[in-house]
Amino acid sequence: MTKPGDIVYFQGDFVDRDQARVPIATHAFNYGTGCFEGIRAYWNSNREQLYVIRLREHAQRLVRSARILHLDPDPSLSAERVEAIILELLARNGYHEDVYIRPILYKSGTTIKVTLSGIESDLCVFTQPFGDYLDIRKGLRVMISAWRRIDDNSIPARAKPTGAYVNAALASDEARERGFDEAIMLTGDGHVSEASSSNLFLVQDGVVITPQASDDVLVGITRDCVIELVRKRGWPLEVRRVDRSELLAADEAFLSGTGVQIAPVTSVDGRVVGNGEIGPLTQELQRAYLEAVRGEVAEFAEWRTPVAKVASGN
Ligand code: PMP
Repeated sequence: MTKPGDIVYFQGDFVDRDQARVPIATHAFNYGTGCFEGIRAYWNSNREQLYVIRLREHAQRLVRSARILHLDPDPSLSAERVEAIILELLARNGYHEDVYIRPILYKSGTTIKVTLSGIESDLCVFTQPFGDYLDIRKGLRVMISAWRRIDDNSIPARAKPTGAYVNAALASDEARERGFDEAIMLTGDGHVSEASSSNLFLVQDGVVITPQASDDVLVGITRDCVIELVRKRGWPLEVRRVDRSELLAADEAFLSGTGVQIAPVTSVDGRVVGNGEIGPLTQELQRAYLEAVRGEVAEFAEWRTPVAKVASGN
């Protein structure tokens, strides 16, 4: 019997996970020449409904990343096509739980030449059951990493290139080896950029602050949800350059991302954030975000794409 997650999308088909294998000389495997997305779908047990979160925006970001990295397969892949493949894959897997969805566009050619253009690309998608990636009920202890965030002039920060995640992994390992939960990365010129694979927000004197996109930030889709929640509440918001010492002096801090959702930060480099408790604005944003993504409120319906129910036995 097929278990949820056993069916994947590979080489243009829905196939068994075991059949999805790449040859040893695959360009993406050798050089990290791919781009990907991380998408979540939440299961609402009252409505027996799976909702994919911000599917359109994720599909669009994937297609845009592909354009930056010459990863667009031929014929050109549209965001609508990516969405349709993901929805069909989820329906075929028959999930009744929270899910993580991983589409990857990658250089499937087997040449050893280091270029991007002129090499065949392909799309694959796999999914897996997925609960909380971090314990978001408690505050995270973070450190400022010695590893700097990749510069947009070295590897495009707006795209999600697979190879660039060595940068995130180095920072994340460093933090864990030193007993912290997560790493905050600075730009090459020492401004606050983001966490290893999530965006960062601060609160100071009631103002919600997040680093500007041009500080090598991946323009997160959850970041955008947070901005919408903040604006709806009429709270002041600043999207701008953030100094390292602002982070050390903040009243509240939290991370946002598909994986981390909204994760409070209660200490930075051993200094307590605010009074060391999860701050009130962070709590309110976390509550509102989790309600919205699970479809517990009618509001923000535009964030949720329901997955069609497949009759049991299919
Ligand atoms: N920054 C990086 C480097 C990431 O990998 C992610 C996760 N995709 C984020 C930020 C958060 O982005 P999103 O909210 O779109 O998941």
